[in-house]
Amino acid sequence: MSNKCSLCGRSTQSSAFEAPGEHAFCSSGCHDVYTTLGATDSLDDSQDTSKSEEAQEGDDLLDSDGSETFLRIDGMYSATCEAYLESLAESQPGVTAAEASYVTETIRIDHDPKTVSKDTLRDALSTLGYTAYLRDDASTEADTAGGTTRRSREMGGIRKRRDDQLLGMRYSVGFLFGAFLLVPYVAILYPAQLASIFDWQALAIFEGAFRLDSQGAFVFLRLYFVMTGIILVFTGLPVLRGAYISLKMRRPNTDLLVAITAVSAYLYSTAAVILGQNDIFYDLAIVVTAAVTAMVFYESSIKQRALDRLTELTISQVERARTYDSDGTTQDVRVGDLEAGDVVLVRQGERVPVDGELVEDSCTVDEAIVTGESLPVLKRAGDDVIGGSIVTDGAALVRVGPDVTSSIDRITTAVWDLQSATHGVQRHADQLASYAVFLVAGAAVAVGSVGALALGMGLADVVLLTLLILLAGSPWALGLATPLSVAKSLSSALRHGIIIFDETVFERLRDVDIVVFDKTGTLTTGEMEVIEADAPPELLDAVAALEERASHPAANAIVTAFADRDGGDDTEDQSDSADNAVGTEGVGQIREFTNHRSGIEGVIGDMSYLVGNLDLFVEQGWTVDDDIRSRVADAQGFGQLPVVIGRDGAAEGLIVVGDEPRDGWDDTVSRLGERGTEVVVLTGDDEEATDFFKRHDAVTHVFATVPPEGKTATIRRLKSDGQVAMVGDGTNDAPALAAADLGISLGGGTALAADAADIAIVDNDIRSVETAFDLAGAARRRVKQNNLLAFSYNGIALAALAVGFFNPLTAAAAVIASGGLLAVNTRRKLLG
Ligand code: ADP
Ligand code: MG
Repeated sequence: MSNKCSLCGRSTQSSAFEAPGEHAFCSSGCHDVYTTLGATDSLDDSQDTSKSEEAQEGDDLLDSDGSETFLRIDGMYSATCEAYLESLAESQPGVTAAEASYVTETIRIDHDPKTVSKDTLRDALSTLGYTAYLRDDASTEADTAGGTTRRSREMGGIRKRRDDQLLGMRYSVGFLFGAFLLVPYVAILYPAQLASIFDWQALAIFEGAFRLDSQGAFVFLRLYFVMTGIILVFTGLPVLRGAYISLKMRRPNTDLLVAITAVSAYLYSTAAVILGQNDIFYDLAIVVTAAVTAMVFYESSIKQRALDRLTELTISQVERARTYDSDGTTQDVRVGDLEAGDVVLVRQGERVPVDGELVEDSCTVDEAIVTGESLPVLKRAGDDVIGGSIVTDGAALVRVGPDVTSSIDRITTAVWDLQSATHGVQRHADQLASYAVFLVAGAAVAVGSVGALALGMGLADVVLLTLLILLAGSPWALGLATPLSVAKSLSSALRHGIIIFDETVFERLRDVDIVVFDKTGTLTTGEMEVIEADAPPELLDAVAALEERASHPAANAIVTAFADRDGGDDTEDQSDSADNAVGTEGVGQIREFTNHRSGIEGVIGDMSYLVGNLDLFVEQGWTVDDDIRSRVADAQGFGQLPVVIGRDGAAEGLIVVGDEPRDGWDDTVSRLGERGTEVVVLTGDDEEATDFFKRHDAVTHVFATVPPEGKTATIRRLKSDGQVAMVGDGTNDAPALAAADLGISLGGGTALAADAADIAIVDNDIRSVETAFDLAGAARRRVKQNNLLAFSYNGIALAALAVGFFNPLTAAAAVIASGGLLAVNTRRKLLG
């Protein structure tokens, strides 16, 4: 029998759990998951374990030879951009893999630094209107900008905003030029055409202006040729580039459809002017280009808003720090008020607020924020720690270095890079585009050749006819419909307190088969309160001092309850000084501190302490007498959380903490059940503590005493049964959130949890999980409706063409009809 857990790969040596059968497990939870889910999993067991370990390594530990480069890329708008930039990067010598994300506008490149340098990669990818930046470029810029902290705090958003400014400029130029060019259309051409339809003699004079018999009109039309050309190329660049790439990659997209209409309209009009024909569709080229660019701009600004909210959230988490005095008191301060030499306490799952040096203890930190690599790094007393890194294990006491403020800028900038690295999926409209392109191009070629061969039309006429079919038949309005639908669904989500900045999240949400809930802090409020405590006072003091370093909600409750205990009455509550002070002066120096899956351990003076649930005591081989055991069972019977405390190998007391189930948790679970979604509850807590949730009809499985590694392994197991979403809040949920197909962090979560999630629910309401699913469904229906409405342009235009009545006037009517329908449909509320 191996000494590794068959589910999660942890060592089983220190485990008190004896698994029946041939496999080894680190905990009853892992055994439970393995036996329950193993039955549905036909994979060979031994193979599967090694595979999941490999996968774990592949996911969690990136290449450590420094051959990974992150570039930030301006000007990425779609999955086609991703595909193109990836193939461009991969075509460089020495590049082994590349993964781009238009959502975060980053690309990760694995390469051999000896063959190809970061600078070469940056230059290679700065092409076709894309601009690539190295992480260092961003920080140099922040330094030279040299502004105040608050100003540079915005740095994270600056790059994107500049990109938006360029888009805004493109749009403004298109709008100004376009408005100028459209005046004659509105004032002269449309009325003239109306006049000719209805035979209004009074208006017939207008017609002359667009007739080519006068020299004046020709000059006038040359002006159109030039100015429309500028709009097409300058304003329409993102679209033209998208179309070009889609051709190059052989992946038709909506950009291609838009380009077909706009470019054919432009070419047709130019040919018509030269050939002395009358229908001049420069207006169509202008309106289509400007409208689509405007929508891309709009969509991008909505995404910006969602990202800003998330950045705000992250900043609010790093804006405060906890100073730690030599006597063990802590104080909540603004990061800006920190001074060099102060000591700050950073708990598990939190970000180190500023650069500094580790004072005591050893802990592990994740420095992905600086290195891009999500590797746990062991730090010992005296080591430097970097502001922005996250404490993944233990707790860190950091002496603030001389440069107090600069790291905040780096944090906000880099958090950006980390927020999500999901690949965009192909949009529904882009799928339609593949068919549409073939259909339209086929029709144009077919009609053109029929014209030439059967009807004996001349070359010029054939070209004109073909262009006409292209410009009338290409469903360019899909390029309007998509950004409108996306912007609508993202802003609706934001209004419901749900941060999503990538529309593909909705698509993935709809495919979810299994939703996994963490228990403590997710199904329960996590706002715990000590209900009763039974232990010697000096033990409670020591426990409170240790819990000060833990980030679990139970730890918070214990610290709050035993803070200022011997500081007498709370009447002179000075809000400034030491409002979070813990009365631990007499406790002595904490010499060791360890986070366990379900509790903490520490050494103060020469006494060791253990705090946590009953399982932890059993696992660590500490004795627990029957009295404590029965009181633990009692508390659990009431749905409360019993925290066992002990010193030197024996449990000596109990603190009972109350934790209420969240309002609406049962409705949320029921409604997920009604959808046909499986609901699984996963917790590091004891079996008994989960009874309450197990009784719910819609809950399919409850797995208790599962360590964090086991949570991740469980998610991987469940993924072989379907698409898995994980809802969690805490630090130890982060790997599971990242492993799930879709991670949902509740209440802002800890820094680690929020980083790992695809969806952040900020209003701290569990019902928002259900709302997100509702929104995903509604968004899907809206996308389909909008895409259908987009075809109304082609319906009208092609009908007019068939009856020989297609001219700028009917084309304008078709544009207004489809644009209007889209606008009206988009204004309707998505939910209720
Ligand atoms: P869940 O997986 O449901 O979120 P956790 O993994 O957060 O649960 O915690 C499991 C249990 O471990 C808690 O219910 C609590 O009993 C115990 N525990 C964890 N950390 C601490 C701590 N710092 N102090 C006391 N008890 C703790
Ligand atoms: Mg939790």
